[in-house]
Amino acid sequence: MEDGDRRRWSEPGPETVAPGVHRVPLPLPMDGLRAVNVYVLEDGDGLTLIDGGWAIEESRAELERALGVLGRDLREVRRVLVTHAHRDHYTQAVAVRHAVGARVALGVEERGSMRTLTSGAADILAEQPVRLRRHGAGALADELAAIPLDRFGTLAFYEDPDEWLEPGPVALADGGPLDAVPTPGHTRGHLVFHWADRGLLFAGDHVLPHITPSIGFEPDRPPFPLRDYLGSLARVLALPDAVLLPAHGPAGGSVHARVHELLAHHEARLADTRAALAAGAGVALDAARRLRWTSRGRAYDELNPFDRMLAVLETAAHLDVLVLRGEAERDDAGDTITYAPAAPSAPGSVPT
Ligand SMILES: [Zn+2]
Repeated sequence: MEDGDRRRWSEPGPETVAPGVHRVPLPLPMDGLRAVNVYVLEDGDGLTLIDGGWAIEESRAELERALGVLGRDLREVRRVLVTHAHRDHYTQAVAVRHAVGARVALGVEERGSMRTLTSGAADILAEQPVRLRRHGAGALADELAAIPLDRFGTLAFYEDPDEWLEPGPVALADGGPLDAVPTPGHTRGHLVFHWADRGLLFAGDHVLPHITPSIGFEPDRPPFPLRDYLGSLARVLALPDAVLLPAHGPAGGSVHARVHELLAHHEARLADTRAALAAGAGVALDAARRLRWTSRGRAYDELNPFDRMLAVLETAAHLDVLVLRGEAERDDAGDTITYAPAAPSAPGSVPT
């Protein structure tokens, strides 16, 4: 695909993706993702948003401008359903609440991470350097420590939501309900919103058309985020197929088709990770260095520090799935967590 085509979705301005449903890309300057899609649902006499965007000035201006193009106004927003707690989805939902009194709803399993994010502590990612050191990436942890965490001043928008969403139906004024489906993996409490009557899936960061979502980048990281993610892909395959409405990338196409690609991608990554292990990579950092990264196939050392952090954590997540599958062994005893190919099983033994 040409770069221009790949970027077209992020150009400003609303796109009507179904009757009464509009995709509004909002800017993410300084971020490789370029934009985040907020979906505007005409809902009775008001508007419901799916995701809020990032609480920065240019995003707020573009949201108001796009609503104006649709003949609507920010004051009509009654509710913001947020797929997960990452700043580019959550913080502007709170800003909209401050501005017009909209209610903010977030999945109940994000509660653990939100407790840290709302604590105002400067150490919201304190666990991250600890994890990196244990995976052999101490130098990267030092490099990251020197980068200010809240350059854009948006941590202040982390406040609790008005509603903690449980899995199940979310009533709309008309055409409802949406079904909030738990899809842990990208984050622990990630939700997708399935609109069965309309054949639409608001997929958040769970199913993205051009890229594979990062796994378990959150304060309250579960022990096996990739296992959770693969299970969540299977959960979406068990729903009727729907039109993909992702948070990053163009709208359209089959959710199921993309989920099959994502599953194949992770099987290929698991095979590559297994090969790295067989070639002697004993810690996650070494394995990450032997893999190629991004859709462009970059080397680990070409990535920026933030992406290197995601790469190390994602490699560890793949190694841990190999351990769960009995294909690798993990040793937590030392300062660093080491991995090795599993010893061949004795003849006649039953794999578990
Ligand atoms: Zn995210």
